[in-house]
Amino acid sequence: MRIALISDVHSNLEALEAVWEKVKKADVVLCMGDLVGYGASPNEVVEFVRERMEERTFLCVRGNHDNAIAFGLDWGFNPYAREAVRWHQRVMTIENLEFLRRLPVRGLFTDDTERSYILIHGSPRAPLDEYLFPWLPDSEFQSVLSYIRQDDLLVGHTHVPMLKVIGERRIINPGGVGQPRDGDWRAAYAIIDTKKELPDNVEFHRVEYEVEEAAKKIMEAGLPRFLAYRLYEGY
Ligand code: ZN
Repeated sequence: MRIALISDVHSNLEALEAVWEKVKKADVVLCMGDLVGYGASPNEVVEFVRERMEERTFLCVRGNHDNAIAFGLDWGFNPYAREAVRWHQRVMTIENLEFLRRLPVRGLFTDDTERSYILIHGSPRAPLDEYLFPWLPDSEFQSVLSYIRQDDLLVGHTHVPMLKVIGERRIINPGGVGQPRDGDWRAAYAIIDTKKELPDNVEFHRVEYEVEEAAKKIMEAGLPRFLAYRLYEGY
């Protein structure tokens, strides 16, 4: 079985389309949230996901940006993100906002080897908000895992790819599709191949996408220019 992991699309349709070409043959797609926020194509991204959720196994949880936009919140964000949150609230359709409101905060999946996964945007301790950065000490990851019973924890939120192995369990972040923050501008995703041996059966991938088009749309929408420039930097 091949399990595709994606996260943090952030209204970047061009990046999502490029990643989709790579993951569409996987048996299941698991998404750790933040479909929207920052970018200029929120309705297009949500509709792309909604259509494909009907056709195949595609599980998606709610991120902090999805939550803020869907429920009309804008606190706790830096000024650029807040401006984008407000812009999203103005341009998104009622149906697409309703879709975001219905996304679960946690998702569960079991693969063909009976290995169990829980999907959470941030962490089990603060599902929408806590950042699990790769440089945290192992004791932090051990503590985080004590809140859940599944074998593996799948997260997003940091936009930094990560594989942490703690005993027999793992914490995996595929990196960001629509706004990578590890210095590589290309869209990130990961594939778990359950035929391969644990714990290294996760492959991390990058794919180039039409970044000029995504950046141009951000400028044309009147969103902060910084949100367009950062796409080229991978930060
Ligand atoms: Zn994010």
